Formats: sequence, structure tokens, C-alpha cells
Amino acid sequence: MGRRGNLPYMIGIDLSGKTALVMGVTNSYSLGWAIGEKLLQAGAKCIFSYQGERLKPALEKLLAPYEGTLTGQCDVTNEAELESLFAQIKAEFGSLDYIVHAVAYAPRASMEGRFVDTTQEDWNTALSVSAYSLVSVARHAEPLLNEGGSIVTLTYYASQKVVPKYNVMGIAKAALEASTRYLAYELGSKNVRVNAISAGPMRTVAAKSIPGFTSMLSKAAEMAALKRNATSEEVGKLGLFLLSDLSSGITGETTYVDAGYNIMGMSFE
Ligand code: NAP
Repeated sequence: MGRRGNLPYMIGIDLSGKTALVMGVTNSYSLGWAIGEKLLQAGAKCIFSYQGERLKPALEKLLAPYEGTLTGQCDVTNEAELESLFAQIKAEFGSLDYIVHAVAYAPRASMEGRFVDTTQEDWNTALSVSAYSLVSVARHAEPLLNEGGSIVTLTYYASQKVVPKYNVMGIAKAALEASTRYLAYELGSKNVRVNAISAGPMRTVAAKSIPGFTSMLSKAAEMAALKRNATSEEVGKLGLFLLSDLSSGITGETTYVDAGYNIMGMSFE
């Protein structure tokens, strides 16, 4: 508690007693980690899910300073693995307050060529992993979610405007943002909120698979109102805000953390 003039004010967000599932952390650069680490620092009890055993040792190393943090294996396209992850959460936590969905994938070939050449198989893979998974995660989580619960997913501006080479992932992100609104409507009667964070480009493993990503970073910084790229730390802070009660009146929204890139129509100065 601090004091400004005669008005008391609180600094920090205390999430002790809250439980969270964080999906999609590969390493310390992952945007899932940017939010997950904030949840841990705020005192939430967390379980981090990983796609395959290959990732487990690195994840456990990352989580080592946070005693009592759990991990669970789950490929989001596998119904049986989703079922067993949520059974584990029920057994360990009893209920769930927050979910961070930071999962996306499109076959590299679908982002190297022309959008018009997208195969049906690549389309299905990208939309299944990157958009449908939010719906199936929400369905499996629903019985466990506490009143006041909150779900956050990660999206990108290519859902709204053409970003060359983003291709089918742009379509997947458009479906993800629309799914966020439909889920927000349906879960709203239980006082569970669902929001999307639209992050500017950031160096992560997933971003490396986007052809020309480095020049995308510098172009974005040039155009942005703040004349720089947003940071994963800023994604983390927005994630914490959208999960916590500070944002209790906000649901179904796509909120940008892109240093003011998306507000610009043109830049010629
Ligand atoms: P990241 O560190 O590579 O995270 C993506 C995660 O998705 C990885 O942990 C990956 O696991 C996981 N994943 C992929 N397929 C999966 C599946 N079938 N089941 C379970 N997990 C699966 O990259 P990131 O950039 O932080 O991505 C997180 C989210 O942020 C994504 O939705 C991405 O589109 C979004 N985003 C990123 C940027 C950016 O510029 N980086 C900008 C806007 C939005 P594996 O490592 O095992 O494949």
C-alpha cells in the first residue's frame, strides 16, 4: 500500500489462492512465459502444459525457481490428452481461475508460398491448432472454471489486414478472434471472461518460422506511433491485467500491444 497525497493506492496484483493453466511455453522468449511468469510472480498456483516430452526438461528448468509449479503434457489437437490434462488439473487444483492460450502452428510451406496455393491439409492444421484449440480448451475447462475466471489468447494483426507471408495464419487468427467473441458471450453468463491480446512482432521460436520476420520487425518499429517494437514484458503486463479483476468489465475484446502500430494509416515523415 502506498500513498499519494491523502489517497491510499495499491501497487501490484495479488493472485495468491488463484490457479492458472498456461499453454504454449517453449522457452523464456515465449509469449506464454511472458504472461505465465507474471502469474507466478503475483502468487498464482500454475500448471504449464507442453506439447511433447521433448520440451519438458527445458520447461522444468525455467520453472525451477517457482516451487510447487506443475507441468502436464498436452497436444491441443488431441482430445484424449486434453481430457487427461483437465483431469490432472481437477485432481491437483479442484478448480481453475485463469487460462493462457499461447499456442499456434502452421506448416512452414504454407507461409513460404502464395496464399492461393494453401492446401486443404495445411489450412486444416493451422486452423485446428491455432483457433479451434481455444474452443476445445474452453469446453474442457468450463466445468472447472470459477466465477470471475478469465481466459486470454494471443493473436496478430494479420487477422485484420494483409501481412504478406502470414497467409493461412492470418485466417487462423481471424477465426481465433471471432471465437474469442463467441466464447465471451457464452461464458459471460458464468462471469468468465475471454479476451485476445494482439501482440506486435516479437522474436520467438514461432516467429522464426515466418519468412522475412527480421525485416517485419524493423518495418513495424518504423511505422509504430511509439517508434519501436512492443516487448514481451509489455505482453506479460497486459496479460496479467486481462486475467485479473482489474479488467473485470472487459470481455470478448482484442486488445493491441504493438507500440501503436495498428492505429497508423500511413507513415511518410
Ligand atoms: P512460441 O514460443 O514458439 O510458442 C508457441 C507454442 O505453441 C509452443 O510452445 C509450441 O510448442 C506450441 N504448440 C504448437 N502446436 C501445439 C500443439 N499442437 N499442442 C500444444 N502446443 C502447441 O512462440 P510465441 O510467439 O510465443 O507464440 C505464442 C502465441 O503468440 C501464438 O499464438 C502466436 O501466434 C502469438 N503471437 C506471436 C507473435 C510474435 O511475433 N512472436 C505476435 C503476435 C502473436 P512446440 O514448441 O512443442 O511446437
